[in-house]
Amino acid sequence: MSVPDVTETLDTEQQQPRTYEVRTFGCQMNVHDSERVSGLLEDAGLTVGDPEDGVADVVVFNTCAVRENADNKLYGNLGMLAPLKRERPNMQIAVGGCLAQKDRDTILKKAPWVDVVFGTHNIGALPVLLERARHNNEAQLEILESLEVFPSTLPTKRDSAHSGWVSISVGCNNTCTFCIVPSLRGKERDRRPGDILAEIQALVDDGVVEITLLGQNVNSYGVEFGDRQAFSKLLRACGEIEGLERVRFTSPHPAAFTDDVIDAMAETPNVMPQLHMPLQSGSDKILKDMRRSYRSKKFLGILDKVRERIPHAAITTDIIVGFPGETEQDFQDTLDVVEASRFSSAFTFQYSKRPGTPAATMEGQLPKEVVQERYERLTALQDRISAEENQRQVGTQVEILVTENNGRKAEQTHRLSGRSRDQRLVHFSVPEGAEVPRPGDMVTTTITRAAAFHLVADPATLEDYQLRRTRAGDAWDRAQADSCGVPSSGSTASAGAPGKVSLGLPTLPIRK
Ligand code: SF4
Repeated sequence: MSVPDVTETLDTEQQQPRTYEVRTFGCQMNVHDSERVSGLLEDAGLTVGDPEDGVADVVVFNTCAVRENADNKLYGNLGMLAPLKRERPNMQIAVGGCLAQKDRDTILKKAPWVDVVFGTHNIGALPVLLERARHNNEAQLEILESLEVFPSTLPTKRDSAHSGWVSISVGCNNTCTFCIVPSLRGKERDRRPGDILAEIQALVDDGVVEITLLGQNVNSYGVEFGDRQAFSKLLRACGEIEGLERVRFTSPHPAAFTDDVIDAMAETPNVMPQLHMPLQSGSDKILKDMRRSYRSKKFLGILDKVRERIPHAAITTDIIVGFPGETEQDFQDTLDVVEASRFSSAFTFQYSKRPGTPAATMEGQLPKEVVQERYERLTALQDRISAEENQRQVGTQVEILVTENNGRKAEQTHRLSGRSRDQRLVHFSVPEGAEVPRPGDMVTTTITRAAAFHLVADPATLEDYQLRRTRAGDAWDRAQADSCGVPSSGSTASAGAPGKVSLGLPTLPIRK
């Protein structure tokens, strides 16, 4: 794939590089695809736009078809850009992702001011399509039915200096009746282990200390090249990579979750004690209707085995409430499995019809108020369990990977934030006189307080605060220096304001 020359991307009037912005809807797959879109556009000579300067010269929508109102959201956004596009004819708008793959030329019919529509299988073509649209003064629509280049071989602009996503497979061979992914992303395609490990090594060489292996169904990895234990072997191979401190993966499928994966998790020190395992429903009847080929007993059995081998594992899940035909007893079964599973947290969804999925035309669609009421009961139960499970962390020592995103609350409380080894969100303060960590550094301290969705650590003494400077922190320093920021080397917490980071000291970027 040839990438347009940088000079062609200059705005002819201002001779300034054109700016871009990527607006992402949807799942982690889309977030990672957006990193690739950014990488491709930067390779083509564009620079990321500053939101304060208004809408960028090139706006890319990376869409999601999973949510019921995804199309309304997209067309609403496109409608808002239409007058701007009339004022700035050189501006370009591109639409990619699952909704583009599904709706194709409908997008150009409904929003003829869009310049490029591209699918999930040809992200790499975006720069060429943008150039072609500009040169021919004509909208470009290109959707491929299957993957030609594995997306991970495309340039990527990563959001974080310390953590990276690594795709191991795309597509899915399952046929869950609520899910649009198989028809939009196609059959599972597995990346070769050597390519995956080479990408991880390159990330680690760049300063990354944490990677998350990504796939619709990670533990069926290997199905394409006939190795049923390929995923556990991959985890063990990650354990051999020097400098890689944390390995995570998302998401496994309970039906394909085998003991060799549990063994690899337990026996590979850098694989974190954390598991995200989608339950979806606790009712065996609903699981059958969802075409999820495990039953609640098997699901609970896997959790038992994981906890036997990794006693401190934090387990999270996804649950759909109000699937067509769900009775009060089916819902009660879900509550029972949730109670027994002791998830540390759960992503809970109200079922809504996704056009194009088998479940959308099933009988027994439930009224919104029934779904809402069950949803509230489920979240109340899970919030109680999350709070109880987090409470058990109080007094324990945790190692926190400091992140860049502190959140508004942490900003108000002058705490920094990070993730524990089991992926819990921790807000922590820096004791007076102690060195302030950079994003990517590791802090070890003791949890002093817990809430349902986060933990708090306010170390009372310097002894209870150990900072370990990492290569990821160094990489963050370098990135700051490159963008004229002030590196934080050697800074300490402000005198007279215990636990607070004061003016004059570097602060971590906070996204609102
Ligand atoms: S396993 Fe089911 S829910 Fe997950 S991507 Fe495949 S079809 Fe969709």
